[in-house]
Amino acid sequence: MWTLSARSSTICASLFLAPGLGLFLAACSSSDASVGAAAVPDPAATPVAPSLGDACTTSEDCGTDLGADLGMVCLASGRCGTATCTTGSCAEGANCFLLSATERTCLPTCDAEHACRAGLVCEASGACVAPCTTASCGVDATCVTDSGLCAADTAKRPSAAPIPACDDVSPRDCTTGTSACSKLAAFDPKAGPGYDDYPINGETTANQWRSFAREDLQMIVKWSTALVACRAQHWAFGNHAPLGLGDMSEADGTIPGTSRGQPGHPAGTHVNGLDMDIGYYQTTPADNRLRAICPHTENGQDAYHCVSAPNSLDTWRNALVLGAMTTSRRVRVIGMDGKVGPLVTAALPALCRDGYLDKTACTRARSLLTYEETNTGAGWFQFHHHHFHISMSSAAYASTPASFAPMSEGQALWRSSEPRTSIDHFEGISGHCDIQ
Ligand SMILES: [Zn+2]
Repeated sequence: MWTLSARSSTICASLFLAPGLGLFLAACSSSDASVGAAAVPDPAATPVAPSLGDACTTSEDCGTDLGADLGMVCLASGRCGTATCTTGSCAEGANCFLLSATERTCLPTCDAEHACRAGLVCEASGACVAPCTTASCGVDATCVTDSGLCAADTAKRPSAAPIPACDDVSPRDCTTGTSACSKLAAFDPKAGPGYDDYPINGETTANQWRSFAREDLQMIVKWSTALVACRAQHWAFGNHAPLGLGDMSEADGTIPGTSRGQPGHPAGTHVNGLDMDIGYYQTTPADNRLRAICPHTENGQDAYHCVSAPNSLDTWRNALVLGAMTTSRRVRVIGMDGKVGPLVTAALPALCRDGYLDKTACTRARSLLTYEETNTGAGWFQFHHHHFHISMSSAAYASTPASFAPMSEGQALWRSSEPRTSIDHFEGISGHCDIQ
């Protein structure tokens, strides 16, 4: 699906769109969209570029001509880049990209018409970078020597079947303002395409008193589960059952169990309909209700977390639903077991590359998906071996629906181990801290 092969020998200095890939750079340091106005260097006379984003030990390693143009230094991560950047702060012909969740750097920009300087390749994010190496492409891709670009490992994808468009699933985002979108209501209907809000933890079919959630959370859950049911309909594995929904809040916004004197979650969580426990997609059970998906006992005692690899986890579908959820700006954090998280995050790049997921999922997942492989005290280590937990932002909505448009397509995850995106797509995202 990578189409960024056509290049000319000009340098671009403006806003770039990559037709066919839906990529969009929100930030641009120049308004000059005239191709003809850009300088046309002689590639043969251009010095070999430094390894933008590649390994360095001192800033001198980044100090070739192009590096000097961009003010590059050796970042703390051991990669060449500008020390920092903001929207519009980069030199003409460059833009501000994320190297990681915390490091941002100016990189030269390119698109299908505007080439990178000699020695660099134009990756799908619209950034000029050093050619790939076997290591830089990660485990899910291979480095194509001719192009210098990573390519998907086609052997690793959930299905060879065509990917359904799924244009008729319900809307992802609530756009009717703070009052309506933050309104607490019973999850309704109780079952829909891809989900099942079944009675749990003392609920009955007639009284699902632990199943009240905000409208925006309800919409994201309905949308993402419907998307999985549609996009994964041809996958040969899994039980093809809807996803089970667990605890939310009580009708008055309190923690489930509060009305019976037994709050079932720590203070501060599952209040006001901002949080929901959701089962994992599973392979061997007939349904996807909340249940352990892994061995979780140690020395005969329940450890309340996976003590070895999951044995009934449908990794691909979980990656699909979790990745889909992260594309919404309303999601604050999603936590899961420490043995589930690595599997899900390893599966995400292939889903983004192959088109099952919007590419924003693979950049935003780094910030929004969290888990503890060891107990660091963040609160995720235990009690997530039978469900994951989604938590919404309680921030107010924009005053007018029009100004709360869904996120732009964002930038591609190109090298699976190095997501890069325009910084605009990361601003304002909350941290990982949560308890459950
Ligand atoms: Zn929870």
